[in-house]
Amino acid sequence: MKPPPTEVSLDPESWDELSRVAHQALDDALATLRDVRDGPPWRPLTPAARAELGEGVPRRPTALGAVYEQFRRAILPFRTGNVHPRFWGWVMGTGTAEGVVADLLASAMNCHVGGYDQSASEVERRVVAWLAELMGYPAASSGLLVSGATVANLTGLAVARSVAAGFDVRKDGLAGHPRLRVYGSRETHSWAEKCCDLLGLGREGFKRVAVDSEGRIEIAALRAALREDRAAGVRPMCVVGNAGTVDGGAIDDLEALADLCAEERLWFHVDGAFGALANLSPRLRPALRGLARSDSLAFDLHKWGYLQYEVGCVLVRDRAAHRSTFQTAAEYLRPLARGIQPGPLEFADLGIELSRGFRALRVWMSLKTHGVERLAHVIEQNVEQARYLADRVRAEPELELLGPVPLNVICFRYRGRGITDAVLDDLNREIVVRLQEDGIAIVSSTRRAGHLALRLAITNHRSRLEDFDMLFDAVLRLGREPAVATKAGGPRSGSL
Ligand SMILES: *Cc1c(COP(=O)(O)O)cnc(C)c1O
Repeated sequence: MKPPPTEVSLDPESWDELSRVAHQALDDALATLRDVRDGPPWRPLTPAARAELGEGVPRRPTALGAVYEQFRRAILPFRTGNVHPRFWGWVMGTGTAEGVVADLLASAMNCHVGGYDQSASEVERRVVAWLAELMGYPAASSGLLVSGATVANLTGLAVARSVAAGFDVRKDGLAGHPRLRVYGSRETHSWAEKCCDLLGLGREGFKRVAVDSEGRIEIAALRAALREDRAAGVRPMCVVGNAGTVDGGAIDDLEALADLCAEERLWFHVDGAFGALANLSPRLRPALRGLARSDSLAFDLHKWGYLQYEVGCVLVRDRAAHRSTFQTAAEYLRPLARGIQPGPLEFADLGIELSRGFRALRVWMSLKTHGVERLAHVIEQNVEQARYLADRVRAEPELELLGPVPLNVICFRYRGRGITDAVLDDLNREIVVRLQEDGIAIVSSTRRAGHLALRLAITNHRSRLEDFDMLFDAVLRLGREPAVATKAGGPRSGSL
C-alpha cells in the first residue's frame, strides 16, 4: 500500500494498463470504420444508453477500462452515421482511417498552435500553402485553418469589413457611420445573416439577391440592388459568391462577380464550403472559373475533403489586410526575438482563436497518404454518382427530379401516380424519416420548386453505385407502402 501522494499528476498509475485499454480502443476504432457497411447508418439511442449518460458529476475516479466499457456500450453505437457509405444528409464528411491516426498523434503532441517556433506551425504553414496553390491563390496570400466554413466565412467577412469600411472599424466600431451591406444570392447558406449579425451589420446587413433557373445569382438583379442601396445612403461592402449552394450545388458565375467587384470596388468573398474542393479536379475546375480572383475564400475540409471534424480553411489574398484585422498586442504575448517565441503569434493574429490545436496534422497526413489526384478522383466519383441517381430518377415516372444537378447535390421526390401535391409533402417527409429509422440510408429534406424534397449531398468516399440503387429501390417501396401513406396522413387516390 502506497501512502497517498501529496503531489498528484493525471498520468496513469500503470502505463501498462493504459496501453492495454488504448490498444483495444484503437482496434475498436479501426474496426468501426472497416466494418461500417455491415450496420445501419444510424440507430437511435436506447433508453438504457440515454439513462447511462444521464449520471451526475463524477466526484471519484473510475478505472479507464470501466469507462471505456461504458463508451463501447452507450456512446460508440449511437453516432450520426456520416461514416457510413449510405449517409448523404445535409453536407457531412466521412473522415478517413488515416485521420484517426493523425488525431491520435496530434492529441499526444497536444501543441498550442497559436504560433511559436515548432513543427506544428511549419506544418500548418505548409498545408495552407498547398491549399492556396490548389485553389489557384497566389503564393503570397494568407490563410488559416479554422473549425469550419462558418468561421472561415466570418473571418473573410471580418477582413472585408475592415478593408471596405473606409474608417478604422476596429477602433471606432460602426456607430455613427453609414450602413454597410453584404450581398449574395438567395441560395446563400444561413451563415451569412449569422455572421453579418456578429460583425455588427445586423441580419439585414446581408441582402439576398434573386437567382436564375440554375440557382445562380442574377448579376443584373445584383447591380440593381447595389444601385438602389447606394442611392439610399447604404455603403455596399462585399459580394459573396457561392461555389456550391447547400440546397442545389449551384455555382455562381464567379468570373462575372469578380468583374463586377473590380468595377464597383467591392470585396469579393467566395463561400466554397464544399464546392471549392471540385477545384482539385481538372475536369470539374472549369465550372469554378473566377474562384481564384476572389479576395477571400472559405471552404471545409471536413465535408468534401473527407476529413474528420473539425477543419475548414480561409484564404485571404492580401496578407497585410488579413493580419491587421485580427492582430492584437499584449505584454504577455510580446515576442522575445529568440527561443520558442521569436516572433508574433502568427496564427492567433490571423483569426478569432488564441489557443488552437494541431488540426493541420490531419490535413497534412491525408493529403500525403492519398495524394491530391486520388482525392480528385473520389470527388469526381461523387459527381458521377449524383448524375447516375439523377438519370435513374428521370427515367422513373413515380419519381420526380427537383432542380438541376450541376455538382454533387440532388433533390427529388416520390410522386407515385395521381397523388395530390398536398399529400406528397407529408408522404415524402415520412419517406425521409423511414429511410433513417429503418437503417437504410440517411438523406435530409428541403423545399425545392415549392415541394418537399429528399435531398442528398454526396461527399462520401465510401459510397458505391449499389448504395444509390438500394436507396432508389427503398424510396419506391416506401412510397408505395400503404402504411407509409397512412402515417403521412393522406388518402391515396389512384395510386397503385
Ligand atoms: C456547411 C456549409 C457551411 C457552413 O460550414 P460549417 O463547416 O458547417 O461551419 C457554409 N456554406 C455552405 C455552402 C455549406 O454547405
